[in-house]
Amino acid sequence: MTQFSDLGLAEPLLRAVEGEGYTNPTPIQAAVIPTVLEQRDIIGIAQTGTGKTAAFVLPVLSRIHAMELTPPRRGCTALILAPTRELAAQIAESIRIYGKHMKPAVAVVVGGVKHNPQIKAMAPGVDVLVATPGRLLDHMDTGTIRLDGTSVIVLDEGDQMLDLGFVPAIRKVMAALPKKRQTMLFSATMPGPIKALAQDFLSNPAEVAVAAVSKPIDRIEQRVIHMPHAEKRDRLAELMADPDMERSIVFTRTKRGADRVAEGLVKVGFGAAAIHGNKSQNQRERALRDFKQGKTTILVATDIAARGIDIDDVSHVFNFELPNIPEAYVHRIGRTARAGRSGVAISFCDGTERQYLRDIERLTGITIAAEGEPQPFEKPPVPGANRQPRNPNQKQGRAGGQRKEGGAPSTRKPRRRKPRPASSAR
Ligand code: AMP
Repeated sequence: MTQFSDLGLAEPLLRAVEGEGYTNPTPIQAAVIPTVLEQRDIIGIAQTGTGKTAAFVLPVLSRIHAMELTPPRRGCTALILAPTRELAAQIAESIRIYGKHMKPAVAVVVGGVKHNPQIKAMAPGVDVLVATPGRLLDHMDTGTIRLDGTSVIVLDEGDQMLDLGFVPAIRKVMAALPKKRQTMLFSATMPGPIKALAQDFLSNPAEVAVAAVSKPIDRIEQRVIHMPHAEKRDRLAELMADPDMERSIVFTRTKRGADRVAEGLVKVGFGAAAIHGNKSQNQRERALRDFKQGKTTILVATDIAARGIDIDDVSHVFNFELPNIPEAYVHRIGRTARAGRSGVAISFCDGTERQYLRDIERLTGITIAAEGEPQPFEKPPVPGANRQPRNPNQKQGRAGGQRKEGGAPSTRKPRRRKPRPASSAR
């Protein structure tokens, strides 16, 4: 079995890895780390939970250590782009952990917080900048961040970048980087526009793939319970009383739904908090911290808020509402059964969600063990019904589901036609 010491990492990083108690590299680490150290471009097809953050953070830090490069003022040696603030914060945390014996200068530049502290942090230049695309572009426009001295760029969670409409922003960022650089792209799936991005910006990349995204890990016990929507809240509270329940994440399709479910659980005495895009950065960070520290044992989340979040020891995932995008089911249940443990995923299915269940079973190739009577079939609400008209001035990148990037045809096309329940229906 490959050892960390076989991979060519600098000594301070090996010490940090040992300090973290990692005995062996994960498959993606064993494949990616030596390739990055050879300075090749990389396409990594991997989900969170595979150890992919360390797969790029360790060799990037190792290269910075070996090169002894001084970052340019207002610039960075390595740039890591992430789709959400939470993921950016988590990557920065990993950099601090793995870099603890080399103390790299790290800055995080994300939306939803003030510009000034970010300008100050960037002024002397940093070894690693972790950023979300929208805010990074703002700084590039005002000249408070420059990328002409950046040697390494990592794009993390490419498919989520696409879902959030960030591809045009990424293209602008890539255009501002020097031609001579190392580029890495990580994504759980490779939809057309992400492939096109790789073709346009990566040079002779090595491709590394681990665990197909459509196959949820075998260690997760999956169940679906059929019931009317009105019974879901009581049923959830009943199941939460199970003594095996250590920590659970409950998924809803809408932000309002997440708030209601969390409030309902708190009312009957459970420690629960909701995270979603309408919460302030502080609220989201607090909810995550409390959950990680065990102050609350239930996190209620929407898909976007939860993706990429890395919390070990989640014993149960509940789909209070099934996702209308089947891949989201795989991402959701992948929050449990991490680091070799097992986990339970329980999904509630009402009459409007039976089509979603069928889509999930088709994607995963699994018939999920079912309890209860399937509810009378109801068509999910027609897309666009009860929706507010789109604000034409809405900022690119904030409206979920925008997938209008040009280039190769998207492999996800059919999903766009799927009915999407309007949030006001719940
Ligand atoms: P990621 O795929 O980056 O979200 O990582 C998932 C989890 O695996 C994180 O909690 C890491 O701390 C942990 N991890 C990463 N690499 C290793 C390793 N080689 N051995 C054990 N755990 C690891």
